[in-house]
Amino acid sequence: MKNVKTAKRSAVKSKSAKPVSVVTGGAGFLGSHLTDLLLSRGHRVIAIDNLVTGSTDNIAHLAGHPDFKFIQQDVTEFLFLEGPVDYVWHFASPASPIDYLELPIQTLKVGSLGTHKALGLAKHKGARFLVASTSEIYGDPIVHPQTEEYWGNVNTVGPRGCYDESKRFGEALTMAYHNEHGVETRIVRIFNTYGPRMRLKDGRVVPAFVSQALEGKPITVFGDGSQTRSFCYCSDLIEGIYRLMMSDYHMPVNIGNPREMTMVQFAEAVKAAIGSKSKLVFKPLPKDDPKQRKPDITKARKLLGWEPVVPLEKGMKQTIAYFKKKLGV
Ligand code: UDP
Repeated sequence: MKNVKTAKRSAVKSKSAKPVSVVTGGAGFLGSHLTDLLLSRGHRVIAIDNLVTGSTDNIAHLAGHPDFKFIQQDVTEFLFLEGPVDYVWHFASPASPIDYLELPIQTLKVGSLGTHKALGLAKHKGARFLVASTSEIYGDPIVHPQTEEYWGNVNTVGPRGCYDESKRFGEALTMAYHNEHGVETRIVRIFNTYGPRMRLKDGRVVPAFVSQALEGKPITVFGDGSQTRSFCYCSDLIEGIYRLMMSDYHMPVNIGNPREMTMVQFAEAVKAAIGSKSKLVFKPLPKDDPKQRKPDITKARKLLGWEPVVPLEKGMKQTIAYFKKKLGV
């Protein structure tokens, strides 16, 4: 109930003309960067997070900010907020393969029941809604690069099924609310993103390789390292997502960086950026690990006038500085 009271207080204050945004997963890696951007663009922000994978460290700098409220709540539970809401950004979800293994049911619940609650809030408030979907809905893609028209190749019962299918369900539910209830909705498909505030031990390749290289430990390449990913810096991604929300396009849009590389190339890039002498060690490839991934961003370019502007080298510099501080090296 404590959380409800916090929300009430924030609602009373919301008499100003500032747009009000609700960010689920607001204490997470991307949710917290989105919150920063929204505050910088004059929004009032209510961040909701159950802190399962998010951290108050990511929003500590906003303590006392007059336009910021934090509510610790699981978004699969009823979302009660008084006062107007203009935008709902649904970002809450575990988002790394080791999280899905540890939290498969919570992952499924937040993508399904959590999306339902967030859509319900948007409908009730007459707010515009954006769901953070993912390149994972393409599964282990046969079409390359991936366009929004590709329907994907997903193993429903594999280790990533809980994430992929909950996000696919989330997209379907979002379309249903758009069609049935006339809610203004947006669907962004987020490709691999990196930057400060990623969790050091979330198992994803960026924190893994950077921390290994910084500590002079072997760099763990899964499989033969020929699988590809395309990494987008967080500020580029958030800008694209903001533009999508403010656009009038309700069909899915890929946001990501089309610069594709193999995991061996990425390991070498991390080593070079850090000046590390770490050796590469090859570990078994996890089941259903996609062999290739690269966004086709034609739609984002045309509709939003958006494309990434931060080169990998520059983004990695910021990211490495962040992890250095975290590791105390
Ligand atoms: N990967 C790796 N070593 C690690 C962690 C990940 O080689 O220590 C590989 C992983 O097998 C995948 C790629 O890096 O092919 C990206 O993995 P991540 O978990 O970051 O995200 P994914 O894109 O697979 O969801």
